[in-house]
Amino acid sequence: MRHPFRAVFYFLLFCAAAVAVIELRQWFHRHPQDLPWTELRLDQPTGRFTAARIAALGDDAPRCRAMLQGAGVRDRPAPARIVDDNCGYRDGVRLEGRNARTADFQPGGLVTSCPAATALLLWDQRVLQPAAQRHFNASVTDLLHAGSYSCRRLYNRADGGWSEHATADAVDILGFRLSDGRTVSVLRDWSGDPREAAFLREVRDGACRLFTTVLSPDYNAAHRDHLHLDVADRGPAGWRACR
Ligand SMILES: [Zn+2]
Repeated sequence: MRHPFRAVFYFLLFCAAAVAVIELRQWFHRHPQDLPWTELRLDQPTGRFTAARIAALGDDAPRCRAMLQGAGVRDRPAPARIVDDNCGYRDGVRLEGRNARTADFQPGGLVTSCPAATALLLWDQRVLQPAAQRHFNASVTDLLHAGSYSCRRLYNRADGGWSEHATADAVDILGFRLSDGRTVSVLRDWSGDPREAAFLREVRDGACRLFTTVLSPDYNAAHRDHLHLDVADRGPAGWRACR
């Protein structure tokens, strides 16, 4: 004999499934930055796969350059630098006078790969400036760096893997100059004044959502004086190193 409530049960189950599908579709629509198959757009918030997608721009220099231009920065393509299979870059960008609301790079004339330039731009806009406002009621005017391109293996060893610096996909950040005249230094302030230390940790953590590798003084003594940020392409799964 048919149970009288069986039809009602299946009807309710169907309704619940339909509501779940609609909710899921709406969530997908609202969170393209958290889905592995959507394309990067700089007007979307930072999401689970943003860093992996920025790194993947290394395979599509024209799209990367067009996106930077669309973001309103005055970055200019830098001449290609081809040394050998391990060293050099084709998609260099000279980071000069990005725009009125972003920090300058000191020393000037910094050239990075286009994906690294993209990650640096988003880091500035989404992480550095808001953090400086919150902690110091100031803006970051200068990013103090120790360069990007350098034809070398990891830790300057004679053999082993090549550094992301060898393709200008990495940059080393020594500190920040702020609009109130203050300088925040990784070496001096990581374990120093609580306010500066909190700022440095916040910008390190924020970088972890935009770069695929972030190495800070927490990682090892070799990084006691800088944040190493790079856009190593580790595939679409979004694997990142944040230490
Ligand atoms: Zn480095």
